[in-house]
Amino acid sequence: MGVNGLKFCVIGGGIGGLAAALALRQQGGDITVLEQAPALTEVGAGLQISANGMAVLRALGVVSETPEAGQRSFGTELRDYRHGRLISQIPSPKAGPTYYYHRADLLDLLHAGAVRVGVDIRLDVCVETVLTTPDGAHVQLENGTQIEADCIIAADGGRSRIRPILNGPEEPRFTRQTAWRATIPWRGRDDTPRAVLTMGPGRHVVTYPLRDQNLMNIVAVEERSDWRAEGWRQEGDPKDLRARFADFGGTVGEILDRVEQANLWALFLRPVAQQWQNGRLALLGDAAHPTLPFMAQGACLALEDAWCLARTFQNQPDIARALSAYETTRKPRATKVVAAAGVNARNFHLRGPARLVAQAGLMVLGPQLGRRYDWIYDYDPTV
Ligand SMILES: Cc1cc2nc3c(=O)[nH]c(=O)nc-3n(C[C@H](O)[C@H](O)[C@H](O)COP(=O)(O)OP(=O)(O)OC[C@H]3O[C@@H](n4cnc5c(N)ncnc54)[C@H](O)[C@@H]3O)c2cc1C
Repeated sequence: MGVNGLKFCVIGGGIGGLAAALALRQQGGDITVLEQAPALTEVGAGLQISANGMAVLRALGVVSETPEAGQRSFGTELRDYRHGRLISQIPSPKAGPTYYYHRADLLDLLHAGAVRVGVDIRLDVCVETVLTTPDGAHVQLENGTQIEADCIIAADGGRSRIRPILNGPEEPRFTRQTAWRATIPWRGRDDTPRAVLTMGPGRHVVTYPLRDQNLMNIVAVEERSDWRAEGWRQEGDPKDLRARFADFGGTVGEILDRVEQANLWALFLRPVAQQWQNGRLALLGDAAHPTLPFMAQGACLALEDAWCLARTFQNQPDIARALSAYETTRKPRATKVVAAAGVNARNFHLRGPARLVAQAGLMVLGPQLGRRYDWIYDYDPTV
């Protein structure tokens, strides 16, 4: 059927929402994005976009073969926390390199691409709810306005308000993991920049350079059961960060010493949604399949969803069948990737003898280990 002449409302102007809006608009849809934030800004933090996500960004036309705003990765180093000792090096996936992006830069690229093709992006509008019938749908805004649409895409993130309409009420579960995120100025001149994953008991730190190695991105994750904050994110105290990772030595210790400002995320999860769509309304990105960040795939999956959603409209005779095909295609893959991230949550934080045994295995198997995840990176939704 294609999407020509169909009116879509996309709820959420994050990576998933903007990518979906752009993909649907490129096929001729009439697209409105509704974003609650007054501006599309992001606090300082990085994202790793692996080959599967890069394929979508290229197909959308927002990045070139050698993306300017992205920092090319040459693989990942695994290190032990105590003195930063190198355990193993994992080369880039054979599907192609990962790129490190500042989130704000990636959002800018998607936003500019969407505006260029005529997506109507409305900021500072909060969606209250959505009503659907077999014949149509409308979005109800908190300010009382209603917007009619043929189809609604809810890309409203891991705390999606719209998801319970399809799946009933579900309280997000605190995973007992919290993530500190920060960036520091950096003057990297490495010809082959890599991410460094430093693992310790109950904690790990991932660092990688951004913006031509002028910034270093830091994600420090710790198991923690005492989260009391109401929100999912709060400003953290760098002194507290240092104290909690005081036994992390080597370069990562020096990097943590230089943090002046940090944000702290409590990692809450809902399971992959049982129901993704009802024939007029579909979930996309974290709204459908929130994930722990330990495979660095949440944004990549959202990009895959966006491309796949737009493409199913080309091959199906009506909206209901297009959304059903989208769910059928995407759910198994998203479920498998989310499960892989859950397994890493355990592997990164091993304690005692289990940690030593795992490190010995990593030393022997290191380079082949990356191949274990080829099924994630080899997948190209655009072919
Ligand atoms: C510590 C950490 C590190 C990560 N690292 C990586 C990585 O390296 N690589 C990777 O691929 N992924 C990574 N991720 C995951 C990634 O950030 C998410 O999966 C991705 O941002 C999801 O995009 P989204 O568009 O689905 O949701 P979001 O980015 O959450 O966007 C949702 C949008 O909807 C808006 N919204 C919500 N409710 C409403 C409403 N009622 N009305 C209007 N607007 C609304 C929000 O304001 C927001 O802009 C990481 C996550 C964390 C926590």
